Amino acid sequence: MNLTDAPDTSGFIQRSNSLSGSVYDAIFAQLMSLKIAPGSRITVDNLVRELNVSQTPIREALGRLEGEGLVVKTHLIGYSAAPQIARRRFDELYQLRLLLEPDSAARAAAAMDKEKLAALQTAAGMMGRREDTDERLRYSTFARQDALFHDKIMEIAGNELIRETLNHQHTHFHIFRLMFHSRVTEEALDEHEALLAAFAAGDAAGAERAMRIHLERSRDRLLPAFE
Ligand SMILES: [Zn+2]
Repeated sequence: MNLTDAPDTSGFIQRSNSLSGSVYDAIFAQLMSLKIAPGSRITVDNLVRELNVSQTPIREALGRLEGEGLVVKTHLIGYSAAPQIARRRFDELYQLRLLLEPDSAARAAAAMDKEKLAALQTAAGMMGRREDTDERLRYSTFARQDALFHDKIMEIAGNELIRETLNHQHTHFHIFRLMFHSRVTEEALDEHEALLAAFAAGDAAGAERAMRIHLERSRDRLLPAFE
C-alpha cells in the first residue's frame, strides 16, 4: 500500500495531517483485522517500507495506538501488538457492560430529545455505509463507530463516571479484534435499529431490553473465538 498516492490538493499542513491520519488508519486496520497478530512485534522499519512514509508519522501513530491499548511499548524491545484479550477478561468485560449499559440505555431513553436522537441516528447510520472497498478498513471503521455510538448513549445517560469507566476499557477495540468477520458487524446493525426505535419512542424499559439483547448477542457472536 502506498499512502503517498492519496489525492491531495489542499496545501502542506492539511496534507501532513491527512498523511498522519492515513498512517494511523492503516496500522489500526491491520491490528483490528489481525493482519498484525496479537502479541507480535511491530517493527518501525518494516512499516516504513510497507507504507512508504518516514518514521515520524509511524511513531506518532504507534504512540496514539499505545494510548488506546492496542499497542504495547516495552523498554529496549520496542513496540508489539497488545495480546489478545483472555477468556476470563472477556467474561468480566461483558458482565461489566451488562451491569452498566442496559441501565444507561434506559436513562438515555428518559433523557432523549429530538437533537440527541438525531445525533444517535447519525452515529448509527455511519455504520451502515459500505463505501470502503478495503474490508479490513471497513471492519476497523465499524469497530470505532460502534464505540462512538455506545459512548454517545452513555453521554446522554448523563453519568460521567460510568462513561469514563467504560471508555478506559477500550472495549470495542479488544472485542472486535477477537474475530475478523462481517457477521460481527451486520447483525449488530439490526440490534442498533431496535435500540433506536426504543429511543425514538422514549421507551426506557424497551431501551434497557434492547441494549441487554444487543450485548448478549454480541458476546455470543464472539465466543467462538475462544474455541
Ligand atoms: Zn453496538
